Order: sequence, then C-alpha cells, then structure tokens
Amino acid sequence: EQSTPPPAGRGKELRSPICCILGHVDTGKTKLLDKIRQTNVQGGEAGGITQQIGATYFPIDAVRQKTAVMADFEKQTFDVPGLLVIDTPGHESFTNLRSRGSSLCNIAILVIDIMHGLEQQTLESIRLLRDRKAPFVVALNKIDRLYDWQSFPNNSFRDSFEKQPRTVKQEFQTRLDTIKVALSEQGLNSELYFQNKNMSKYVSIVPTSAVTGEGVPDLLWLLLELTQKRMSKQLMYLSHVEATVLEVKVVEGFGTTIDVILSNGYLREGDRIVLCGMNGPIVTNIRALLTPQPLRELRLKSEYVHHKEVKAALGVKIAANDLEKAVSGSRLLVVGPEDDEDEMMDDVMDDLTGLLDSVDTS
Ligand code: GDP
Repeated sequence: EQSTPPPAGRGKELRSPICCILGHVDTGKTKLLDKIRQTNVQGGEAGGITQQIGATYFPIDAVRQKTAVMADFEKQTFDVPGLLVIDTPGHESFTNLRSRGSSLCNIAILVIDIMHGLEQQTLESIRLLRDRKAPFVVALNKIDRLYDWQSFPNNSFRDSFEKQPRTVKQEFQTRLDTIKVALSEQGLNSELYFQNKNMSKYVSIVPTSAVTGEGVPDLLWLLLELTQKRMSKQLMYLSHVEATVLEVKVVEGFGTTIDVILSNGYLREGDRIVLCGMNGPIVTNIRALLTPQPLRELRLKSEYVHHKEVKAALGVKIAANDLEKAVSGSRLLVVGPEDDEDEMMDDVMDDLTGLLDSVDTS
C-alpha cells in the first residue's frame, strides 16, 4: 500500500490516541465530556468533531483551537491526527474489559471532585488503572465551587488561577494538599501538571471546571503532550488489528451488531473476524462497517454510513452473522492469510475464562 511520506523531521505517521474517563459518581465525568465536546469555542467553531460509535473524535484542528489559550504558557507540536475520547463514563468501559491485554485506552482521566476528595469509587478506579497499568491524569474538577472563585469561561487554569483573590488561592492550595496526601496514601505521588518535573513517576493533576470550561484546555494539552511524547511507540500504525468490543446491540435492519473501538490497524468489509462468545469463540465475516450519519445528513433514509474500509483509531459498528452471543469487552481479531484460525479462537476465549469473576449476568 502506498502511503504519503511523513513530514520532514518527524517519525512515522501516528494514529490518534484513545482516552477514557472514570471516577466516583457525581464528580462531573459526564459534564466534563460534554464540555470537551462542545464545539463553539471562542473564535468560532472547532470544526470536524464527530460523534462516533461509543466515542467522540477530535480532529487535530479542533484540539488546536481548544488548546489555543495554552500558547501563553506552553508550546506544542501536533504529531497525531486527532484524539478519540470514549463516551462511556464510569468504569463500564474498564470493568467490561475481558481482556487484560486490551489496548482500548492509551490514557485515562480520573476525575476527583475538589470539594469531596477521594471517594469509594475513586479508590476502585485507582485499583483498576493500576491493574491495567494504564497511564492516567487526575482532573481535579469543580474548581468553580471554591468560595469566591472568579470565572473566566474556557480559560486555561493557569491564567484563571493567577487572577483569583488570595483567599481562593489559599483554599485551593489547602484542598490540593489534602488530596495529594490522600493519593500518596494510595501509593501515588502526584503534582500539579505544570509543576510536575517527572511525569513518569508523578501523576499529573489538572484543575478543571466542567461548568465554566476552565482547565479544559490544560487537560487536552496534557493528554496530547503525554501521549505524543511518551507513547509514540504505541501510537505507530500496526499491520495487525487491535480492536475491542464495547457493546452488543440489536439494530433494526442489521440484526445483532457489535460496537467496536478499533485501536490500531484497518478493518475491511468481508474481513474474517474472531471474537469471544458466551458459548465459545465466534468466527464470522464482516457484512457491513457502519458509522453514524453526520448530523446534517440525518434526513437521509439510513442512520448509518457504510464503509469499505476504516482506519484506526475510531468507533465503528460491525454487522455480521452469529453475533448474538458476543461478549462485550473481548478483543476482536482479524484472520490474515498466514494466521491459524484455531489458535486465534483459543486466544479470544482466554479473555473470558481468565476473567470469569467479572462476567455479569446480563
Ligand atoms: P458523573 O456522575 O461523574 O457523570 O457526574 P455529572 O457530570 O453527572 O455531574 C454531577 C453533578 O455535578 C451535576 O449536577 C453537574 O452539573 C455537577 N457538576 C459537574 N461538574 C461540575 C463543575 O465543574 N462545577 C460545578 N459547580 N458543578 C459540576
């Protein structure tokens, strides 16, 4: 296959990093996702943000616009084509994962409410992240609830913070210190992201408000910074496919379909796929690769656009026979000409048997 050469001085072409969000209930995960998605940032529309199957895709231009206010503080290169954010908040997207080796998430956002500190599900989330060796950042959310906080919508945290009265700065520091101590009791060293000199040893904390949008540019900037600089190896395009089943759904006109996050490689119509099923491995051929119709085109008769081929990273719906017993959270493999189908069937079933304790009854 012919691909366009990478820009001079750069490495190989990278794919979009994938980001998940988790944390205790009511910390603001949903609201933060909404705020990140919001397209009408100052200076016009951040174009091209698309709602995908189970995820939202931000083309690099949208990220560039949303992080523009960071320019006063930090320089950034944009080496990835965009950012894919998984829409399911909470731990669903993690606990559902049957496969330990899943590459679903490159970086996670652990949301902590600055007014409440660490809560029950925060601790569970930390355990999950640790089990999966998933890199993460902390969004210290609801900073607008600090007494007398002066808000500057969609501003960088750093600029907003400089403009706060002394009492607000003091309250912030006190709460931050308490939370850092609580994190260290969980075995985590942490530091405000712009004071963090050792990103591989210290977890970075980004203060945010999902209501005013303050800190959201900082958060996006950091996600990009960490994935581009520290994970470029994982973001190289691979010849083999890395994909995870998010959900199994019946859709009128298509029968049982699976919603899949394609983390790496390509999927093509007609590909022979292997995935984990409740009663044994499923081997079938992709009948259709579907993504949602862009909003503007909704008057068209189908809700979905068909594709001959899709390229990572993205969320896509797959229609095929025999998907009724598919298990969400399992890996999806594509059988290549050299591959041993039986071996692949064993591989995907390992995901299920290895993790029977986490299989729900639904
Ligand atoms: P989730 O359960 O973690 O998804 O939390 P939600 O996004 O549903 O938010 C829970 C509540 O907190 C809602 O009433 C939100 O409006 C509110 N909330 C979320 N983020 C913020 C924030 O940054 N500041 C303030 N003041 N309220 C917030």
